[in-house]
Amino acid sequence: MPIATTNPVTGEVLKTFEPLTEHQIDEAIGRSVTGFRALRETTFEQRAAWMRAAADLLDAEQDDVGALMTQEMGKTLAAAKAEVTKCASACRFYAGHAEQFLADEPVEPSTVGAVNAYAHYQPLGPVLAVMPWNFPLWQAMRFAAPALMAGNTGLLKHASNVPQTALYLGELFVRAGFPAGAFQTLLVGSDAVEKILSDPRVRAATLTGSENAGRSIAAIAGRELKKTVLELGGSDPFVVLPTADLDRAAQVATTSRCQNNGQSCIAAKRFIVHTDVYDQFVDTFVAHMSALTVGDPMLDGTDVGPLATQQGREDVEAQVADAVSKGATVRCGGKAPDGNGWWYPPTVITDITPDMRMFGEEVFGPVAGVYRAASIDEAIELANGTSYGLGANAWTDDPEEQRRLAGELDAGAVFINGMVTSYPPLPFGGVKNSGYGRELSAAGIREFCNLKTVWVG
Ligand code: NDP
Repeated sequence: MPIATTNPVTGEVLKTFEPLTEHQIDEAIGRSVTGFRALRETTFEQRAAWMRAAADLLDAEQDDVGALMTQEMGKTLAAAKAEVTKCASACRFYAGHAEQFLADEPVEPSTVGAVNAYAHYQPLGPVLAVMPWNFPLWQAMRFAAPALMAGNTGLLKHASNVPQTALYLGELFVRAGFPAGAFQTLLVGSDAVEKILSDPRVRAATLTGSENAGRSIAAIAGRELKKTVLELGGSDPFVVLPTADLDRAAQVATTSRCQNNGQSCIAAKRFIVHTDVYDQFVDTFVAHMSALTVGDPMLDGTDVGPLATQQGREDVEAQVADAVSKGATVRCGGKAPDGNGWWYPPTVITDITPDMRMFGEEVFGPVAGVYRAASIDEAIELANGTSYGLGANAWTDDPEEQRRLAGELDAGAVFINGMVTSYPPLPFGGVKNSGYGRELSAAGIREFCNLKTVWVG
């Protein structure tokens, strides 16, 4: 994949970049080591001041960086600006909480025959972050803010279609005051990742992206015995049971499926509806999906912009064509318009059967698959009948059903009567083929730390 900014609205290549040479990569890793030595000597207070300065820069530059993201990957400008704000809030969250999250954990010394004993968190060193284009600022920030507050340094290999957002991130933290080398962007293709991750100076890796990329990084890291955190895809269920507020559920279903033009790992993708409310829910859902405004993502009032890449649209088209050819029903949308740009309309599909690709695969576009369930047991079985396990949404006002769904849905997060979303204070991550490890919260900052036992006799 060339490293380039290509406008998804028109398909026009706006700017191309040469990948770094091996020598430049080597120098950058060297700076990361030097930066780590400098950073690990700083106090939480100092790092927090720099992190808050980064948040202030994001707030001040929100309009420009938001427009840059919209131009590079097609999300609406409103969504892009909200993403910048969320990044600033994550910076402030870790500035305010890192010291508490990484405080020493004392143990009663007499229980281990010591005068003093405690566990102490220390940073690991340079960490490689391989990041995707769908939330180009947020996905990287979810790693960067806790990593830097812990005293690690970051090497960002961003997706090849968001190079300018990557470069912005590469300068942000040093502009905010962090030492040179604390956080750098490496403009490289995915073919460079193996060598970087195999470098003994790089201590760990985090990836957000596809299952294939995750398997590749995990294999290399396994060989090299390096810690990894993997945030991969999802095919989140959205279970609707009879006591739910159906109008609200249908509205939130629409928002969840079409957020980020349908390209979010935690978008609800499979809508599993109890047969007693199936027709009513589907009619309302189709009405909401059909009412969305598809158009120029720079304009106010646009709900859904184009997909980010030509390949992404081809993948969605192929999945829908496969379902239709095997007997699925298209309730709205279902056909890409002619002309330039990588548009795909909000689409609802029913009568999906297990032989269709959509049944088991993630659909990374605004296409909802709706399934009918005769009971809560069948709904849970359908919801769990996927290789993924990232998030799960469930709608019911019955406390016993809420308890069952929270306990029995196989996912890293269950949201009842609301939409799966990431919040800095809550852990984020998946089970099964959605990956492992956690980002955000106290768990996220501890992932790339050496929890060192200290025993004093
Ligand atoms: P990829 O996984 O291909 O890309 C994500 C990042 O991984 C990019 O930086 C990419 O670099 C890099 N990468 C890709 N392959 C490898 C590899 N073998 N070794 C090391 N790094 C690699 O995602 P896509 O952008 O192609 O999206 C395809 C699918 O991925 C989607 O349909 C969706 O299922 C999933 N996805 C999930 C996301 C999530 O948030 N969990 C986000 C984005 C995608 P480069 O761009 O240079 O190829």
